[in-house]
Amino acid sequence: MSERADILPAVQVILDRVVPETGWRAVLVVRLQGMREAQLRFGYDFGSEIMLAARGRLVEAIRHVDTVFVAGDDSFVVVLPSVRNRTHALLAATRIVGAFDTPLLRGERPWHGRPVVGVAVHPEHGTSAELLYRRAELAHDEALRIGEPFALYQPDATPVEILYGELREDIEANRLHVAFQPLRDLRSGEMVRVESLSRWTTTAQVHVAPADFIQFAERSDLIVPLTRWSLNASLRHAAALHRGGCPLDVAINLSPRVFAEQGFAEQMIGAMEIWGVPPTAVIVEITETALLTDLDMSVRVLRNLRDRGVRVAIDDFGTGYASFAYLRHFPATELKIDRTFVDAMITDSRTELLVQAMVDVAHRMGMEAVAEGVENEATLLRLVEMDCDLVQGYHIGQPMPAEDFVSERLAAASCV
Ligand code: C2E
Ligand code: CA
Ligand code: CA
Repeated sequence: MSERADILPAVQVILDRVVPETGWRAVLVVRLQGMREAQLRFGYDFGSEIMLAARGRLVEAIRHVDTVFVAGDDSFVVVLPSVRNRTHALLAATRIVGAFDTPLLRGERPWHGRPVVGVAVHPEHGTSAELLYRRAELAHDEALRIGEPFALYQPDATPVEILYGELREDIEANRLHVAFQPLRDLRSGEMVRVESLSRWTTTAQVHVAPADFIQFAERSDLIVPLTRWSLNASLRHAAALHRGGCPLDVAINLSPRVFAEQGFAEQMIGAMEIWGVPPTAVIVEITETALLTDLDMSVRVLRNLRDRGVRVAIDDFGTGYASFAYLRHFPATELKIDRTFVDAMITDSRTELLVQAMVDVAHRMGMEAVAEGVENEATLLRLVEMDCDLVQGYHIGQPMPAEDFVSERLAAASCV
């Protein structure tokens, strides 16, 4: 294992490299919790196996320009040579924490790694590798103290969370946006639905990917106001289509965390009444992995919504780790086949068989099959042959600002 003294010169080289167009760099200390116990109980080989798997997760979570160093028995140092600002550095930390959501090791001795990340940025917190490393360590300790998965170094020890504050304010001030992406029915050939996707551009004009800020929100209490915002914004635009005589169904992504909210289903039905969008025109999308968190609770809330006519889609189908067993109990009306399968089905015959099998499972269980991530005509034609019901993807239509989507559709003479 490398030692700090070996790593620091290499980190310094990266920090000193001149990158004229970007101002900031960041040093992250990532430490896996519970490693000491794991090693003492199961041996050092087990520890090395974990570290190897963890390194793999880190490399997947970061960009190719970033570097990971092993910095001891339970820690890593990650250097980001160009970040736009502190928020950007914290997003990298969010992404890293998210990369450890699934168990690191499976099999006989499964192990679920939980990383805690400390972040220091260059030049704000220093320019020498040694100082940034120490400050990232201090931030790590602060994160542990306050029970958060990551923290930014705070010179004055007042823990203000920039990303948290910024996102909370922007949700409250209604500064997020909704994009609509169309879905086409393969039998009628018509656009029948839109999926609503949230968009966030910070006041510093950084476009934050939903994969990042949604994950961040899910880790804090912000997911509840964010979902409330997204529901209302999506229904408002859908209502404009209904009023304009060109109605479309609207699919809304829900995080499972909101199911724990008292009276969530009622609030959602209430919102539909307020906006005048019938529940039968609404689909909620829930990810398969999400279902595993609290199956009973999710089933209860979703049954309630189903009883009012809301449809339920299992999103990213095929990527979760659940067995088929949960499908028996789950009140879903459609399976949304993950785009990693759809994307590969034309070039890989085994994947094609899998997609066909997923379409068949959906139909046999009385559900519709939806394919997402359709990027070319060949894939589309294959899906028609497979008897898939609905398609979505860049080949059908890109996500676009909901305002523009609505006004374009209403301006067209025949609701296209
Ligand atoms: P998702 O639900 O799987 O949404 C589809 C994602 O695939 C969108 O990314 C969309 O832009 C992208 N996409 C659409 N067609 C294609 C294609 O042909 N090829 C490829 N490669 N990608 C395509 P986006 O907008 O970045 O959203 C990412 C994820 O963030 C969503 O994945 C969803 O899980 C989550 N999300 C977005 N908005 C919300 C929201 O308001 N609430 C919640 N809870 N989650 C949201
Ligand atoms: Ca979705
Ligand atoms: Ca999806």
